[in-house]
Amino acid sequence: MDIQEVIASSDLLSIVSSTGAVLQDKGRGRWRCQCPLHNGHDSTGFSIVEGNDGKLHWTCFSGDCGSGDVIDFVMKWRDLDFVEACKYLAGEVESDPAEVRRLAEERKQKAEQEYQAAKVRLEKAIADLERAKAWEIYHQNLIDEPDKRLLWQLRGVPDAWQDIWRLGYTSDFTVWEPGEDQTWQPAWTTPTLSIPVFQPGWKISTIRHRLLNPRDPGDKYRPDRANLRSHPFVCNPATSVKGPVLVVEGEIKAMAAYIAIDDPNLHVIGIPGKKHFLNYAYLFEDADPVYILPDPDGEEAAIRLAQQIGVERCRMIQLGMKVDDAILAGLLNRTSLRRLIQYAPKVPAL
Ligand SMILES: [Zn+2]
Repeated sequence: MDIQEVIASSDLLSIVSSTGAVLQDKGRGRWRCQCPLHNGHDSTGFSIVEGNDGKLHWTCFSGDCGSGDVIDFVMKWRDLDFVEACKYLAGEVESDPAEVRRLAEERKQKAEQEYQAAKVRLEKAIADLERAKAWEIYHQNLIDEPDKRLLWQLRGVPDAWQDIWRLGYTSDFTVWEPGEDQTWQPAWTTPTLSIPVFQPGWKISTIRHRLLNPRDPGDKYRPDRANLRSHPFVCNPATSVKGPVLVVEGEIKAMAAYIAIDDPNLHVIGIPGKKHFLNYAYLFEDADPVYILPDPDGEEAAIRLAQQIGVERCRMIQLGMKVDDAILAGLLNRTSLRRLIQYAPKVPAL
């Protein structure tokens, strides 16, 4: 099996189409669609470009799926290793095992180098964030313009908690988007609510911006700057994550639930979107039990998280609506939330 042959004879466009993604032909060898790898909502968040060598290359701009060629796509899409992906594309073709091993090793090294480079960029971005104390600047805007605190109050977060979590506001956050030439360009601005995300020990890991005028209602969050990675929102970063933990989707839901439950012994963690459910299983090493309360469309991701951290430790709360909406509508309060947790059933099988 010749890998270059596999790439040349595989049609990335039809494979992407077969996932259900609707490709928009942008002309001159460029296509856009929503990202089929993380089921993104942004209809231009996934790009396919024809390189000078005639090969098609994809990039996910709306998530953390990365980029690559047709083999990388199949590896991520079908969760296959390199050899399996080649076989998937080529059919069960006779192959030279030594050659396949060499190429697999080459890819592994390349992936490791990319991982290390991304780690260095991430560490630099966090150091910049710490030096600038950027979240304090956004928080100061709430102190200078107290009427902006209403935006947080309306989401179930009173002033005292805005101060504890150092939440903030910006009037003109610049949203960057990939331009014609695949480099990032400042594209438009919007007011935002800023959310600093701290790890246990109050160590900053990122700042998330909730766009108040998003162009696409399904695509409402951006990191403060490039190279930052999403991290779960830990409601009580003063202590390590031990004992009972409630997991919900998103920072603002975690805040609303934590305030409503009012139990200092219960950790509440907000995971930034379904596609991240699995990336942070390590956070739950010392958690027991883990109550998972997904959005109505997030049950499958919740079950997968439970399977990864051990179903016997987990309980599932199926609410049928978003937890912050239920709290804000007065349908859930301290008593009923605690009861939901107390009687939470075991995790169903997939
Ligand atoms: Zn993606």
